[in-house]
Amino acid sequence: MTVAELVTIGTELLLGEIQDTNSKYIARSLRDIGVDIYRLTTIGDNPSRITHSLQAALMRSDVVICTGGLGPTVDDPTRQAVADVFNVPLVYHEELWEDILARYKTFNRVPTENNKRQAFLPANGVAIPNPVGTAPAFYVELGIKTIIALPGVPREMEYLMETFVIDYLKERYDLQEQIIKAWVIHTISKGESAIDEIIGEMETYSNPTVGLVAYPNQTDIRVTAKASSSAEADALMRPVVEEIRRRLGDYIYGENETTLEAAIVRMLKEQKLRLAIVESGTKSEISNKLKLHANDDIIRTEHLESYISDETLKSLMTEFAELNQADLVLGVRLSSDGQTQTLYQALLDKESFWHDQRNYAGPIGDGLRWAFNASLDSVRRKLNKQI
Ligand code: ATP
Repeated sequence: MTVAELVTIGTELLLGEIQDTNSKYIARSLRDIGVDIYRLTTIGDNPSRITHSLQAALMRSDVVICTGGLGPTVDDPTRQAVADVFNVPLVYHEELWEDILARYKTFNRVPTENNKRQAFLPANGVAIPNPVGTAPAFYVELGIKTIIALPGVPREMEYLMETFVIDYLKERYDLQEQIIKAWVIHTISKGESAIDEIIGEMETYSNPTVGLVAYPNQTDIRVTAKASSSAEADALMRPVVEEIRRRLGDYIYGENETTLEAAIVRMLKEQKLRLAIVESGTKSEISNKLKLHANDDIIRTEHLESYISDETLKSLMTEFAELNQADLVLGVRLSSDGQTQTLYQALLDKESFWHDQRNYAGPIGDGLRWAFNASLDSVRRKLNKQI
């Protein structure tokens, strides 16, 4: 595994005057060829601090790429800083100076004496020709380690990455083109920490990696593999995905693009059932989302604006079931005392009436999503004959 660090150089980056877009670009390019990035550093135009940053990065990593500070002025100190990393002098290169003269000529301009600084490189450096700018870039090799110094101007840096750096690194470190694939397993009604207890050791895997993303009453498990082909990534993920399915079983409602509402509608269609929903305090969220996946034949809805008692909700559910010839009715009421939100939910079918009340003390803005997930999970469990 080849490990890289990036060092972006420029006081204007530290002052917040410009945004560091170079790191993002280089990070993505390196990711695609399977180079892992362990650290990004931004440092001002101060030669000794740059030298220290580069030295430290070089101790930790195989490849250090820095951008910026290659211009002709005194506050462009990268050449000197890299020379100091290796304790070598800067050496003048006549051919670089000729390139710079030629480039200025195409603009009908004459370089100043300052520009001569750009024709100097650390004694152990090798120039990377820069036909899109005046500042020559360069690299230095030391054993298996490499420092690459690129211009700060994004267009120039990108050009050199594309035309030189990527191919150079692929060859030097024998890298393969990598792809990253992810598989997401959606679970419901099991908190992040409970899931962590069940699959915790998988979260230490390195390829594929396993990570959790928590939402109100819902946790996604993301399995991500890095490989040289799609088939190889699938093969790496498959046993891990299967093991997660085995351990979490009924808590899984879908995978990848499947939403909870789409999963419920699919089950209703498979079982040829019609669902009616009576909801209050939920801004019709449940009905509206389900209706995105089904027509009126499957979903009938009634939205009540004001607070209603359990008894009224139950009698409305009975009436509504008869009126719409529904096989199953979900009744939901979400209320709040300003701090705690309370969900009352009920399910009515021809044989039974089930109901439940629970509280949510999480962020007020998440209450609706929590109620949505909790009540649709009850429908799911009813359809799975778990209620
Ligand atoms: P030049 O010879 O053109 O001066 P240079 O290598 O010396 O190039 P800098 O002077 O450090 O580069 O930066 C030139 C310009 O490039 C900056 O003014 C800024 O607009 C842009 N730049 C520098 N670093 C970054 C970065 N990390 N992300 C985005 N833009 C950057």
